[in-house]
Amino acid sequence: MQHSQRADENPALERAVAHANACNLPLLVLFVVDPAYPEANARHYTFMLEGLKETMAALRRRGAHMALRLGNPPEIAVKVAQKAAVVVTDRGYLRHLVEWRAALADAAPCLVEAVEGDVIVPVESASRKRESAARTIRRKLTSAASDFCHDDQPEPLHQAARGLDSEADVALGDIGQFVAELGCDDSVPAVKDWSGGTKAARKRLAAFVADGLARYGEGRSDIVARNVSHLSPYLHFGQIAPMEVYRAAMAADAPAASKDSFIDEFLVRRELAVNFVYHTPDYDQYSCLPDWAKATLDAHRNDRREATYTRSALENSKTDDPYWNAAMREMRVTGYLHNHLRMYWGKRILAWSRTPQTAYADALYLNNKYLLDGRDANSYANIGWLFGLHDRGWPEREVFGKVRSMTSGGLKRKFDVDAYVAWAQAL
Ligand SMILES: Cc1cc2nc3c(=O)[nH]c(=O)nc-3n(C[C@H](O)[C@H](O)[C@H](O)COP(=O)(O)OP(=O)(O)OC[C@H]3O[C@@H](n4cnc5c(N)ncnc54)[C@H](O)[C@@H]3O)c2cc1C
Repeated sequence: MQHSQRADENPALERAVAHANACNLPLLVLFVVDPAYPEANARHYTFMLEGLKETMAALRRRGAHMALRLGNPPEIAVKVAQKAAVVVTDRGYLRHLVEWRAALADAAPCLVEAVEGDVIVPVESASRKRESAARTIRRKLTSAASDFCHDDQPEPLHQAARGLDSEADVALGDIGQFVAELGCDDSVPAVKDWSGGTKAARKRLAAFVADGLARYGEGRSDIVARNVSHLSPYLHFGQIAPMEVYRAAMAADAPAASKDSFIDEFLVRRELAVNFVYHTPDYDQYSCLPDWAKATLDAHRNDRREATYTRSALENSKTDDPYWNAAMREMRVTGYLHNHLRMYWGKRILAWSRTPQTAYADALYLNNKYLLDGRDANSYANIGWLFGLHDRGWPEREVFGKVRSMTSGGLKRKFDVDAYVAWAQAL
């Protein structure tokens, strides 16, 4: 278990249960906490471990043994695989996650299978190429989605895992202490208003389906009302199945336009991001941007900037823009930011950086450091979007060239942005 960190609606887990029963063997679920995981800090580990604690208890109740180990995931998985009849993993899309699975498959002495569970339409079924925009992948995803969203009953395990060796396992008693002893970056602390795990995810989903979804169509951009699901951290850590979210949204009593709008973000945009990462080896580099965008940004590289700020000034909300400072403060304190503010936040970084390359690096760094849902396929696709990825050309402007720009005028016109600033300052 690595990406689908849940006991329910987990296709890799159910595949492993079927193998265990067919072989009449017990099931061991292995999770390896890597203290050196790229860009992970105390905020991310805490949220993840809260979810894993719940998952471990649920798997124990089901009769499996969930082993938690510390170290290098593929090395430990290969060691544990020595005694296995079959190994099943979930899928991961980022570079290191693909490499971990390849290393395990190369070195394990038994069959290794990878089972998709964190997108609705498996990435290769959706498209065999890098798609250029939401419009080019939309139909492929929307027409196939319901085929992958059956509500199958889990199969009981025939063999209990009581006798399995658990000597090397580490305990997850006090999560705060566990994280403090990991030796990870502790400069970004755990957040107060979010707790990890499937129960918390389902609570957010139920609240959204009962209330926010009906207004999502017209009101999803409202940075104050926030008729959004707040599910992204749970989806990032695989604490809730996208299939479960899809079914709940489709069954909800909400206007069709709102459902369509939600599906466009949750299915189309989210899985377009996975398509991008899957087909783009340099998904986390400036070089991954479309040629037209790099060319127009380059043509405007010497344009005068209204202001320039260092990474440290940005990180500490020390710009002359109170709206932007409030958004950065919300990210620092809560680990979350509304989509519309993320767009504004990122576009202003491009406006204020000496070069688009610096802007790209700073936006990605801050995104991944502070957001609970950072370091996701969505992070790379959306930071890319700031610089023209999955978008089209717009009327030419200073600094941005033909890349879409955003200014505070839009925020002021459409929303009660001063109420937002007051709220963020009180955090
Ligand atoms: C500059 C920038 C950076 C971003 N960084 C991240 C990131 O690091 N991680 C991340 O998960 N999302 C990121 N997004 C996308 C989006 O802002 C968040 O997924 C969304 O705001 C999460 O809040 P929610 O769950 O309440 O969203 P909702 O509006 O309730 O949407 C439901 C789900 O749909 C998906 N979704 C929504 N909007 C998008 C989108 N534009 N692209 C792809 N998927 C989407 C998410 O999985 C989200 O949880 C970023 C967007 C921008 C503009």
